[in-house]
Amino acid sequence: MNIVIIGPQGCGKGTQSSRLVKTRGLTHLSSSDILRHAIQNNHSQAAEIRQAMDSCQLIPDSLMLELVQFRLCEEDVQNGWVLDGFPRTYPQAEGLIDLLQKIGQQIDLVIEMQLSRELCIARACKRLVCSQCNYTTSTCQAQVGDTCPQCSECQLNHRNDDQLDVEGRLSDYHNKTIMAIGALGNLYPLVTVDADGTPDQVWTRILEVLNKHSGCMSG
Ligand SMILES: [Zn+2]
Repeated sequence: MNIVIIGPQGCGKGTQSSRLVKTRGLTHLSSSDILRHAIQNNHSQAAEIRQAMDSCQLIPDSLMLELVQFRLCEEDVQNGWVLDGFPRTYPQAEGLIDLLQKIGQQIDLVIEMQLSRELCIARACKRLVCSQCNYTTSTCQAQVGDTCPQCSECQLNHRNDDQLDVEGRLSDYHNKTIMAIGALGNLYPLVTVDADGTPDQVWTRILEVLNKHSGCMSG
């Protein structure tokens, strides 16, 4: 089963992706996973990719699509994948559609997580993250400076993109990513899931959606 999960900052899509991965035996493919994988496997442009990641620069679409294609063809993802954080724009969605046709794969379900602007901002500002292992929690569960309970190697802190950047990212999401969702939705089953609620409540909604769609899925 191949799933694309898309949603604005703070919608909890990382948490829900992890649950999908664990319960369905899928491979989680976030944009940064794909980039790190290319670096680890000595891609010919590994140095450029590393530099772009270190300085938070965007990877050109053509390169990103090449890396996505490479990753989707590897043995360990053939049981299915969850693509998280890509595509973000209409051209990226078109590119993804083309490459999937080229490699003979398809998307079984596009999950669009919806959350109001106010809640996205409120959640992003409450979020604490470990810069080492990406463990994420909230200011209700932990405090800035607490040792990460997952890897014990780093202290929890707000993410760099929180507060100031989150509004800009939300505008980008509404201006660009909504178009990408539309393009995917024209070809593949698209469902929207209300992301307002606890992780368990949202997960229940996703399970309902999966059950409803499993009847018409190939795998
Ligand atoms: Zn950690």
